[in-house]
Amino acid sequence: MTETIVIAEIVKGAVHPTTAELITAAHALGSQPVVVVPCADASVADGAAQFSGAARVLAAKSDVFSNYDAAGWASALDAVAPAGVIITSASPQSKDLAARLAARRGISVVQDVVQIEGGNLTSPIYSGKAMQTVSLSGNAVVTVRPNIFAPAGNDGSNDVSVVDTTGNIATAVQEFMARASTRIDVAEANIIISGGRGMGTPANFTHLEAIADTLGAAVGASRAAVDTWDEIPHSMQVGQTGKTVNPNLYIAVGISGAIQHLAGMRSSKYIVAINKDADAPIFQHADYGIVATWEEALPILQSTLSAMMA
Ligand SMILES: Cc1cc2nc3c(=O)[nH]c(=O)nc-3n(C[C@H](O)[C@H](O)[C@H](O)COP(=O)(O)OP(=O)(O)OC[C@H]3O[C@@H](n4cnc5c(N)ncnc54)[C@H](O)[C@@H]3O)c2cc1C
Repeated sequence: MTETIVIAEIVKGAVHPTTAELITAAHALGSQPVVVVPCADASVADGAAQFSGAARVLAAKSDVFSNYDAAGWASALDAVAPAGVIITSASPQSKDLAARLAARRGISVVQDVVQIEGGNLTSPIYSGKAMQTVSLSGNAVVTVRPNIFAPAGNDGSNDVSVVDTTGNIATAVQEFMARASTRIDVAEANIIISGGRGMGTPANFTHLEAIADTLGAAVGASRAAVDTWDEIPHSMQVGQTGKTVNPNLYIAVGISGAIQHLAGMRSSKYIVAINKDADAPIFQHADYGIVATWEEALPILQSTLSAMMA
């Protein structure tokens, strides 16, 4: 049987907890995976040692992995894991890497998988309007959406083997400069409160920020909000041309629920919509709907949450 390789999700130089979900996805495919940790410093791979259900953990050590570059990473990973079914997270960076790995190897790539049954993989297509199921035979690269599979346990004690690897580097990214923001990124958040054009002005997003601070949530936005107001950066945009998110709770405020917005958030576990228009399409997808202006609803939500959290 072909080997299954989980490529650990690396965020800010550390193994991200979503890696444990990839191990569960590998089990759904029927195998105990080898977890490969791309790193410049092998100690980073210690962050994967505690995951249960892994066959082994490999630290793929190379300077290439200091900063993300699809060509360099794919080339260096070839030396460590040249064949097999590869599973990565469906984060923007790992989806890019998945496509590069598949193209180099001449194998299929299946992006944004949300269900695995036997050898069948299901993922949304056409901006989430339909689901497709493909069956896997042979090697492929699979990206798995976060927050879908339960994470593998943390009671493992895997030995970490270190493999020095180099890639063919045509270009090297020297440095990434993060945008100065203290807020949680929507792509990483478990709870998101998003505002749309119905917020009226960008200054009104402070009401969303206050609730986000109470809940430990990220603040997102619709494209209409991002396009209309310079103060709302594109990094906050959720949707087809923004970020795909999959939180446990998504609160949409003053957002109509256009198909392109839904494409980025409809797989959230619970959706709450606040909109003054009872016929807004977002209500067809919401688990809980509040027909009210945000001016009426948010102060009540804020005071109720503050009392609950106190
Ligand atoms: C190719 C393409 C890609 C796109 N990609 C994206 C994308 O990635 N993300 C995205 O979001 N959109 C995207 N769009 C745009 C999308 O079609 C919609 O135009 C957009 O989502 C609308 O944003 P909105 O709901 O904030 O604004 P609107 O459609 O203007 O809706 C505002 C809502 O606020 C409500 N409202 C108004 N005042 C209040 C109030 N005081 N209290 C409560 N509710 C109020 C209204 O009833 C209305 O439902 C894309 C479009 C195209 C063509």
